[in-house]
Amino acid sequence: MQNKSIAQMAADLRLRTYSSVELTRHYLERIARLDPALNSFITVAAESALAAAERADQTLRSGEAGPLTGIPIAHKDIFCTQGLKTSCGSRMLDDFVAPYDATIVERLAAAGAVVLGKTNMDEFAMGSSNETSWYGPVRNPWDAARVPGGSSGGSAAAVAARLCAAATASDTGGSIRQPAALCGVTGIKPTYGRCSRWGMIAFASSLDQAGVMARSAADAAFILDEMAGFDERDSTSADVPVPDYVDALDDDLHGLRIGLPKEYFGAGLDARIGDAVMAAIKEYEALGAEIVEISLPNSPLSVPVYYVVAPAECSSNLARFDGVRYGHRCDNPKDLQDLYERSRAEGFGPEVQRRIMIGAYVLSAGYYDAYYLKAQKIRQLIADDFKRAFEQVDVIMGPTSPTTAFQLGSKMDDPVSMYLNDIYTIATNLAGLPGMSIPVEPVDGLPVGLQIIGNYFQEARLLNVAHRYQHATHWHQAAPAGFE
Ligand code: GLN
Repeated sequence: MQNKSIAQMAADLRLRTYSSVELTRHYLERIARLDPALNSFITVAAESALAAAERADQTLRSGEAGPLTGIPIAHKDIFCTQGLKTSCGSRMLDDFVAPYDATIVERLAAAGAVVLGKTNMDEFAMGSSNETSWYGPVRNPWDAARVPGGSSGGSAAAVAARLCAAATASDTGGSIRQPAALCGVTGIKPTYGRCSRWGMIAFASSLDQAGVMARSAADAAFILDEMAGFDERDSTSADVPVPDYVDALDDDLHGLRIGLPKEYFGAGLDARIGDAVMAAIKEYEALGAEIVEISLPNSPLSVPVYYVVAPAECSSNLARFDGVRYGHRCDNPKDLQDLYERSRAEGFGPEVQRRIMIGAYVLSAGYYDAYYLKAQKIRQLIADDFKRAFEQVDVIMGPTSPTTAFQLGSKMDDPVSMYLNDIYTIATNLAGLPGMSIPVEPVDGLPVGLQIIGNYFQEARLLNVAHRYQHATHWHQAAPAGFE
C-alpha cells in the first residue's frame, strides 16, 4: 500500500479496496515498527488519526470524497495543530499545545487528509542536518549513519521511508529542497506568499514559506492544490489565483528553455553530483527542452546575505519566547530579568542562541547600516539577477545540494561548513521565488537532487517540469532498503 501514489490510494479508497482506517492503521504500524531507527516523528497521533480516518470513510461512503479524503499525511512540527503538541523541535515549546490550527493544517483537514503525527525538525527550523532538534537527530533512511538534511529532516525521512503518503514542510533557506535531495524525495517550496504562514511558527518572516514533501511531483500537486491560496490572516499572503496543479502536470515540454547558471556548477560541487545533474538535463533535452547558459553573478553572496537577514528576523521573532506567556519557564526566578534570562538560556539550544546573538548584533545601533541595510541591498541585486535570467529562460536548473547526505556529527562543530549546504537554495528564498528538488541518479547509493527554480507563481510549471521527468525515469520510485 505504502508504495502507491496518492491518486492510486484515492482510487482504492473509493473502490473500498481498503478503508482509510485500514490505510491509517497500516501507516501507524509502519511508524511503530520502523521509526525508532529514524526518529522522524516527534509526536504520533494514533487516536486522532484513526478518528479522522473514520470520518473520511463516512465521507467516502457518502460519495462526497475529494482527492485527499482519507489519505494519511504528517505535518512538520512547525505548524500549529489544535490539541496536538507543536514543539518546533525546541525544548522551549516542549509542552506547548496550540489552541488553533495553522491555515494549511485547517485546509488539509477540510480536504479530508488524515494527520498521522508531527515530524522532527531542526530547532526553530535552524539547521541543515536535523541535528539541532531538542528531540535528537533524525537518521537518513538510506544510511542510518548519515543526516537526512534539514530543517525539515523528519518530513523528508518519513516520506522516504514510506511512513506517510506525504508531509508538509517549510523552507526559509532550503529546508524543503535540501532534505528532499538528501532523502531522495520530491519537495516543493512555493513562491513566497503562495501558502499561508498563519500558524506556522516564525523563523525569518520575509523568507519563510510552507510547502510539501512527497514521493512524486504528482503527489505534491494534490497536496499543494489544497494548501495554496490567499489567507487574510497572513498579511504577506498573495492574493493571486491558484491554478489546478494536477491539471497542468502533463503539459508538453517542447521548447521549454532551461537556464543553467554557471555559478551553480563551480568549485565546491561534488563532481559526481554535477554529472548526475547533467545526466538529468540530457533527459530534459530528449523531452524537447533547450539549454541556455546563464549567469546569476551575485549568487555567491547569498549565504552571507542570508546569515545577516535570517538571524536579524529571528532575533525579533523569537523575542516572544520570554517564559511569561507560553513556552519554557525556569524554576524559581529571583526577579523578572532572571526569569527572561534563564528561561531563554534553558529553552533555546546553542544554534538558536547563536542566531539570536548574530541577529541582535546586526540590528544594533551603529551596525545596522553596515550589515543589515547592506544585506538588504545585496538581496535586491540577487533578485534582479533572477529577473534578468527569467527574461531568457522558463526555468533554472542545477544541483540542490553540493554533496550527498553527510555523516551525523561531521559538521556540528563547524557552523560555516554547515551553512554552505544551502549555497544553491538560499538565493531563491532571498528573491521569493518557487523552487523544487527531485531525485535523479544516485551517487554511491545515496540520493541526489536536481533543483528546479521557476519565476514567481510558476508552481504549476515546476510541477509539470518535474512530473514529465518522473514520467520518463524511475529514480523517484526507489525505496531505501528495509523501507520498501
Ligand atoms: N539551513 C538553513 C538555516 O539553517 C535554512 C533553514 C530553513 O530553510 N528553515 O537557516
